Amino acid sequence: MAGDRVKVDSLLPFGADPHAYQAAPSDVAKIAESNLLILNGVEYEHFIESLLENAGGERVIVTATDGLTPNQMEDEENESQMVGDPHMWLDPNLVITYVENIRDGLIQIDPDGTETYNANAEAYITQLKNLDAWIVEQVNTIPAERRLLVTNHEAMGYFAERYGFEIVGAVIPSMSTDAGTSAKEMSALIEQIKATGAPAIFLGEVENADLANQIAAETGVKVVDSLYLETLTDGAPAATYIDMMKHNVTRIVEGLK
Ligand SMILES: [Zn+2]
Repeated sequence: MAGDRVKVDSLLPFGADPHAYQAAPSDVAKIAESNLLILNGVEYEHFIESLLENAGGERVIVTATDGLTPNQMEDEENESQMVGDPHMWLDPNLVITYVENIRDGLIQIDPDGTETYNANAEAYITQLKNLDAWIVEQVNTIPAERRLLVTNHEAMGYFAERYGFEIVGAVIPSMSTDAGTSAKEMSALIEQIKATGAPAIFLGEVENADLANQIAAETGVKVVDSLYLETLTDGAPAATYIDMMKHNVTRIVEGLK
């Protein structure tokens, strides 16, 4: 969206799991040099506070999810506390808000580029709407009773809501990969998979497959891995957000048909 008007860098390298990310010393320098910092928000960047403190200085901070209302879930460690679900980018309709927030941040630091940012944002929003229509078409090829998702952690709530999937459960019943699962939760999920006939467990590329493989062995379902839920790839198959979504949807459709 910024075209060549600004230099864009990212804190997390390809293939890093943001839930488990440990900031690197070089991140402080990157932030210190920046005029604009874009975050997802909803506590996704759990590492950011100390980085900001160490970097000092001032910059515009855009929280891409600003204006959206996150779904709430009980905290794994402390059940009396609710935590927000950060995975809003997995519904392209919500990403329209991301684009608008980022556009406004770019205009704030570089008002001379206003026209460019407006035009690029508008063009990208059209691409997001086309992506949404394409996903609906793909999902329609899955028999309705097989639109069942079992994932490794609770990442696909917004996606499921938008495209009419039922979330059967998650191997790690948490919105972070950085949590555990109990034997009781494991056997409950196995029962759920058997009861619903969910055909597959879907796994993000950066996630540990051990538990999913155990459950698959006990239930006879397949494990579909290499979804890119929270990271892009350096080149195919997930070089851009839109490629990432198309890749994931293709894997999901293949896994459920
Ligand atoms: Zn996640």
